[in-house]
Amino acid sequence: MSKRPTITLRPREGRKARNGAPWIFSNEIVMDEPAKALASGTLVHVKGDDGQDFGTGYFNSKSLIAVRLLARENGAHVDAAFFATRLTRALALREALYAKPFYRLVHAEGDSLPGLTIDRFGGTLVLQVSTAGMEALLKPLVMALEQVLAPDTIILRNDTPARALEGLELYVRAEKGEMGRIAVEENGARYFADLGQGQKTGWYYDQRDNRAFIAALAKGKSVLDAYSYSGGFGILAAKAGASETLCLDSSAPALALAEDSAAANQVSIRAIKCDVFEEIERLAAQKEVFDIVVADPPPFVKSKKDLEPGAKAYRKLARLAASVTAPGGTLLLASCSHNIAVERFAAECAAGILRTGRKATLIRSAGAGPDHPVHPMLPESAYLKALVYALD
Ligand code: SAH
Repeated sequence: MSKRPTITLRPREGRKARNGAPWIFSNEIVMDEPAKALASGTLVHVKGDDGQDFGTGYFNSKSLIAVRLLARENGAHVDAAFFATRLTRALALREALYAKPFYRLVHAEGDSLPGLTIDRFGGTLVLQVSTAGMEALLKPLVMALEQVLAPDTIILRNDTPARALEGLELYVRAEKGEMGRIAVEENGARYFADLGQGQKTGWYYDQRDNRAFIAALAKGKSVLDAYSYSGGFGILAAKAGASETLCLDSSAPALALAEDSAAANQVSIRAIKCDVFEEIERLAAQKEVFDIVVADPPPFVKSKKDLEPGAKAYRKLARLAASVTAPGGTLLLASCSHNIAVERFAAECAAGILRTGRKATLIRSAGAGPDHPVHPMLPESAYLKALVYALD
């Protein structure tokens, strides 16, 4: 047995963890002086007040999620071999799903690796570590990545604001190889991402299947890709034969990548740097409409307290987007806010569309692709919602 400290649950606490949830909250544990004194990220044993073993996890007294469990056995070895087993399993799922090595390789708790996401771009891996516990395990993790994948490049995109809550510094660096621009292959199209400077890990793999769905409808149609980033939806629609594609985004570097991607796929797009709300209002005033409209904004509900203003913003966006959707057209409205439930989001979208006097039916309700597995006891981590409406 290792000499790890033990964290004890308070009487009758830990109900969710007993049923398989990987989190234990700070109000569920005995937060005594020895527990408070543990360094953030320390590996611990967890026991119920009745002596039941909950397993091995990492602890952070400063976080509301005090323990994230890594294994159901107490005293589990958390070393390179541990990571290699988890990574091999995560890799097998992706290799079964995708012909090319471009996907989210690790989706945190969904791949039994809390605090860690890894996006794969061929021989390049972009890691995002969001907890002190995972940060403390970087060394064996990188050893395991070498063993399982032998990547050319490993980039640490450790600049997610969530790290501040864990008392971690924000930084971006290449652990191996160099940062820079890279090609992404997805749905048979070629895109570009800037792994050091782009948003999140540089690319949003979560919308892959939704992009394919829209592209399947796009032949001969005009397409508006609002909040396009580097053209995920728009480029694929153009490649599928859209008659015209307009990408809107506030980020000039993202639009520059979209234009390069258009050239690489031998299609043409128009890209406008703008605020989407203002630009759609302008387009609507000019009575411009598009057969297909996609609106995939940044999160409007960043925290629970933003729910009401955020919900209102989703409703307004739905109204504006519907106002530039052609008769008989298709409208995709997305939210990547985990703080708004799909039912509420759908209600706001419906209300916004109806405000334009249009009728709509919901033809697809989807989330992220299967390279973003969701832990069954953490349904709230299914953050992405993509609703597709057929308008009259
Ligand atoms: N649809 C994209 C992902 C969009 S992410 C894809 O398929 O990859 C959200 C995008 O919204 C980001 O690119 C960000 O630059 C942009 N954005 C944020 N606020 C904006 C605003 N007010 N107007 C226009 N774009 C905005």
